[in-house]
Amino acid sequence: MTAYDPNNIFAKIIRGVLPCERVYEDQHTLAFMDIMPQGDGHVLVVPKSAARNMLDVDPAALGPLMTSVQKLAKGVKAAFDADGVAVMQFNESASGQTVFHIHMHVIPRWEGVPLRGHTGAMADPDLLKSQAEKIRKTIGFNGWTG
Ligand code: 5GP
Repeated sequence: MTAYDPNNIFAKIIRGVLPCERVYEDQHTLAFMDIMPQGDGHVLVVPKSAARNMLDVDPAALGPLMTSVQKLAKGVKAAFDADGVAVMQFNESASGQTVFHIHMHVIPRWEGVPLRGHTGAMADPDLLKSQAEKIRKTIGFNGWTG
């Protein structure tokens, strides 16, 4: 498998070199809005530690990652009054992975509303900002100072 690239987009977001609409952070994980969302409230949850995907991640990173995924799944469902939540994750290009720092997609779902798919369309930054605010409020996240 190709080696982890420390200059991938999400590694830069974790280091604070690139911006994101942060919705949750703790010692081990970071969650932020997907800039090309497949549905309203689509967030990505990543471990801060380096891993390309599920095939090379340290198993010790998975507990904290899934704990944050559950927090965000409940959070986006409540924030957007959704009927359900999709949690998705891809490994290598053949499966659809495009950014090679492991990430979990957490996407609110409503009965009868299809996912928008990978259109490559950037969301309105103001809309993402207001959606992020809604999620932070719902889960009670006021920033992480660790
Ligand atoms: P993958 O296809 O690798 O599972 O998903 C990568 C996701 O990252 C896509 O949903 C895409 O919209 C999102 N994405 C790509 N570049 C950026 C970026 O610079 N910032 C944010 N917030 N999301 C990104």
